[in-house]
Amino acid sequence: MATQITTTRQERGQQIAKHQNQIKRIDENTYEVLSQSGHGKYEVLNTSMGWMCQCLDHIYRGVKCKHIHAVLFSKSLRAEVAVRRIEPIESVTECIYCGSTNFIKKGLRKNKAGNLQKFYCRDCHKYFTFNLGFERMKHNPQAVTIAMQLYFSGESLRNAMKSLKLIGVEVSYRTILNWIKKYTRLMEKYLEKITPKVSDTWRADEIYMKIKGNMKYLFAMMDDETRFWIAQEVAQTKMKHDARALFFRAKRLMNKQPKTLITDGLPSYSLACEQVFEGTKHIRHIRLQGDKNNNKMERLNGEIRDREKTMRGLKKRRTTILRGYQIYHNYIREHEALNNRTPAEACGIIVQGDNKWKTLIQNASKKKVYRKP
Ligand SMILES: [Zn+2]
Ligand SMILES: [Zn+2]
Repeated sequence: MATQITTTRQERGQQIAKHQNQIKRIDENTYEVLSQSGHGKYEVLNTSMGWMCQCLDHIYRGVKCKHIHAVLFSKSLRAEVAVRRIEPIESVTECIYCGSTNFIKKGLRKNKAGNLQKFYCRDCHKYFTFNLGFERMKHNPQAVTIAMQLYFSGESLRNAMKSLKLIGVEVSYRTILNWIKKYTRLMEKYLEKITPKVSDTWRADEIYMKIKGNMKYLFAMMDDETRFWIAQEVAQTKMKHDARALFFRAKRLMNKQPKTLITDGLPSYSLACEQVFEGTKHIRHIRLQGDKNNNKMERLNGEIRDREKTMRGLKKRRTTILRGYQIYHNYIREHEALNNRTPAEACGIIVQGDNKWKTLIQNASKKKVYRKP
């Protein structure tokens, strides 16, 4: 009997969720659901004690009411936006130079990291091995991707170097830094061509950080719902910074503009929002201590601050490193608040395989190789 009532509430919730204008997302944990009778609305909150609603059904019966079901259902719709899968490339299917499938196995190439099967292409008469993305590397994909994972999850270059030594790979910390820069640039070019399905609420904020001993501002644009880190820019000052370039870049990369933009009170945001995001509602958010609305930016702040100690001692403006960190944040790191999904996954981009770095690098390398004469 009880099950039947639950099913009915669930079904009614689904009905509500199908009409998009009946649910209004205030932030990640706060929603407004219009009452079915048309008289007013209910606030649905995600609290430490679970989902809560203001309606009588929830208050008196303590059950998941149709409004809560409606919110949960509308959230799951976003989880189903998966549009793009990036698959690992497990075996060689075509010549890496000309794309021909007319090739044969021919001998082995002896390598420090193990022997590699050599192939001979009958069309372009070239030999190749299958080590996509790592063709000219002395070391194997494992070493490179382990180093990247260690570095971006908070280890110093020197610690990454010591860890690699344990698996028999001896490289300098300079080499590791070069790997990170090389592969960040490669992945970045590839990923810029894939548009994530971000939500309609974005958040712009700035993080004060140290680069080569000088304090600089990192201006970042984030998707409020999925935490996808959309775009960034490093600037010398806060107050005189012109945010328009960042906003244009965000708009170009996402192929849309937000319906709502949340920023702090910085004047340059108002100007940029007016000029670049025409018609977007701009919410100027005053920071309060312990304000849950600011959690996301504070968390990014924490992530970046953890990096600060390892970024110290690096030369120049290490924006490549920051962009690498952005890839790690969006595509590799699983976020608890997203049910252990990555922001990219929440935006419908699924990177497959046990080693996501490797999957990304392989796919990023594929086209690049074909473009060769
Ligand atoms: Zn309710
Ligand atoms: Zn060929």
